[in-house]
This record gives sequence, structure tokens and C-alpha cells, in this order.
Amino acid sequence: MMGGVLTQEARAGSSGAPLAALPPFAATLQGFWKGEVLWHCQLAHFTTLKVGGPAQAVIMPSRIPELALLIKGLRQHAIPWRIMGRGSNILVPDDGFPGVVIVMGQGLAAIRQVAEDADGVIVEVEAGCGLARLVKWTMAQGLSGLEFAAGIPGSVGGTIVMNAGAFGGAIGDHILAIGLMDGQGAYHVAERRHCRFSYRGLTIDHPDLPGPVRLGKGGGRHREDVLVLAGTFRFTRGVQHEVADRCRALNAKRKASQPQGMASAGSFFKNPPEAAAGRLIDEAGLKGARVGGAVISPKHANFIVNAGNATARDIVELMHLVQETVWKRAGIRLEPEVDIWQPEGGERH
Ligand SMILES: Cc1cc2nc3c(=O)[nH]c(=O)nc-3n(C[C@H](O)[C@H](O)[C@H](O)COP(=O)(O)OP(=O)(O)OC[C@H]3O[C@@H](n4cnc5c(N)ncnc54)[C@H](O)[C@@H]3O)c2cc1C
Repeated sequence: MMGGVLTQEARAGSSGAPLAALPPFAATLQGFWKGEVLWHCQLAHFTTLKVGGPAQAVIMPSRIPELALLIKGLRQHAIPWRIMGRGSNILVPDDGFPGVVIVMGQGLAAIRQVAEDADGVIVEVEAGCGLARLVKWTMAQGLSGLEFAAGIPGSVGGTIVMNAGAFGGAIGDHILAIGLMDGQGAYHVAERRHCRFSYRGLTIDHPDLPGPVRLGKGGGRHREDVLVLAGTFRFTRGVQHEVADRCRALNAKRKASQPQGMASAGSFFKNPPEAAAGRLIDEAGLKGARVGGAVISPKHANFIVNAGNATARDIVELMHLVQETVWKRAGIRLEPEVDIWQPEGGERH
């Protein structure tokens, strides 16, 4: 089951909570949020690593005005919150998250072609749209640009925030503008000149926001206070079967080198400037290394996989083992690419 999709299992995990067990902010939340809430919902259901304890509440908004009211209310009442897409680049602690997790899912997932010119097509895509669905859509239209993304399991919002990329391409190369919501629930459009895409990161420098805002992992203050609602992309016209062939070829390359059918978050560490992280881990003799249920994939050393019963603690311990071993052997400090959620208060300020 993919993260971000409201599953039977996730519903069942939240439905039996007796009223008395609801979090202290429940009545306040229900004062300004009239939609569905999954109480005490295991976040492992929403992450591709399949680890993570309960969020006190999970909400999956399906309309922008509702989301604006939600964000405003959460801020006004100082209820902690986080956002995720498909949870394919997040490590949630075993203790879960003491607050509201907003999941951008199928409710906010429209794809709209908004213009067409001699160079190609301009398409607006909502943040909850699965990247796989967008790749399939562009492929069917014979639009070129996203071939590199075939096989990346994120949402469009998470992909923009992480500036996800592969095979020399990255999502930021195709962005014309990004629709944003700030912590007051107000809507802004960041044009390309306001966006600084970096290796697995995005900083927005927009006159309406209080200073540059780094989104995603490693962000500065209050990074969750800016949400990505949609991206506007330019794709070039190509020949339909050629675009499809390139997607298939790159996906096959991905499958040949990466573990299949195992829970993971993709590449765990960023590639340092000196060398590929996978090669450094392999050369340190760590393929197959294990802590509890967390294992360094024998197929690709930069993948930490959940062999079935891993905890977040196992994964963090294995991460530290890798960092220490590579540091001792090569003098290079590996930095996680995955967004490791810290306990509330530890990361936000
Ligand atoms: C098998 C596998 C293969 C992968 N291959 C690649 C690859 O080739 N290249 C690559 O770059 N990545 C890869 N990844 C990692 C991951 O898929 C990408 O980073 C992905 O695009 C993240 O999208 P997501 O919706 O899952 O984001 P999440 O994991 O849900 O979130 C990632 C970060 O973005 C934030 N966020 C999510 N949505 C929003 C939003 N709407 N507004 C503001 N913040 C938001 C979250 O708080 C978090 O900080 C892979 C992962 C897996 C499991």
C-alpha cells in the first residue's frame, strides 16, 4: 500500500479510538475543521519505508479553501502540524507525531493543460497528484521532459519540494511557477525567478514571504509554514512512442540497479561532491549490514530497506553505523537525503 492513499487499513487503525482517548486539541480542531479526521493513525501506513508511529490526527483535504481554513486554524490555536505527500522520502519516528499530519492526496490531484505554443504545452498540476500518474499522462500526450521520473513514487508536491531527479534530469528544470499557501492560509504564486532549485532542495524567495523559505528537509525556521499547492510546468512536444520508449528504458535501468518489492525511501544519503554515496558505502563493506529489521540493500548500497519488521530506531542506528564507517574509512560525512522527522520542538525552530 502506498503512502498518501487513504486505505482500509489506515481507516481501521483510527476508527476504534474511544472518545476519551482523543487528543486534547480534538474539540478545538473540530470547531474549524468539518471534514474527516483519522485519529491516532499509524503513519507507517503513509510512508514507503513502512515505519512510523501514530499521528494524533491525519487529515486529507480535498479543496483549497478548506485547506486554507485548516492551516489558519492550526496556526491560530498553536496545534503542531506537518505535511506529507506519498511519504516516499520521510522517516517518521516510532513515537509518531503529536499533532496533525496533513496528507496531500488524491483530493487535490488535478492535471490541467492551460496553454500551448510552438515550443510545447503548459500544464498545471495539483500537489496531491501522483508523479507516476503525471508521467503516464505526459507519455500518453507525447510530451517530453519527465522521462527521468518514470518509477519515482512521490506526489507532485513532494517532488517539487525535494527537487527530485534522476539520470541528469530534475523536476525543477520544467517548472514555470509554483502555487503556494502560507501559514495564514493565503495563496501566492512563486514564479520561476522566485525559485532556487538545488540538489534535493528548493528555496523560495518571494516578496510576500518573510525572507527566503527553504522547503523540505533541513529547512530553516517554520518550514512547514509554506505548502506547495500546485506546479505549472512546460513540457516539449515529442513523438509519443519515442517518449514512451525513453520512459520504459530509464525505468528498466532503475529496476536493474535498485531493490524491487522492498520498503524503502529510495536513496537514503545524498551523493557528496567527491563520490557516489552508494559506492562509498559499498567500499566500506556495508552491503547487507543489518540493525534489527533495517538492512543495507545488497543490490544498491545507498538503499536502506525495511526487511519486514524494522523500526525507525533500527533505521536511524543503521544510518549512524554507515555515517561512522564511511567517515572513518573515507573521511567523508554522508548526509541523509531522507527527511527525518524529529520530535516536535526539535526541528521546527
Ligand atoms: C523506490 C524509490 C525510488 C526513488 N527514486 C528517487 C529518484 O530517483 N530521485 C529522487 O529525487 N527521489 C527518489 N525517491 C524519493 C522520493 O520519491 C522523492 O523525493 C519524492 O518525489 C518525494 O515525494 P513525496 O510526495 O513522497 O514526498 P514526502 O516524502 O511525502 O515528503 C518529502 C518532503 O516534502 C515535504 N512535502 C511533501 N509535500 C509537500 C507539499 N505539498 N508542500 C510542502 N511540503 C511538502 C514533506 O514535509 C517532506 O519534508 C525515491 C523513493 C523511493 C521509495
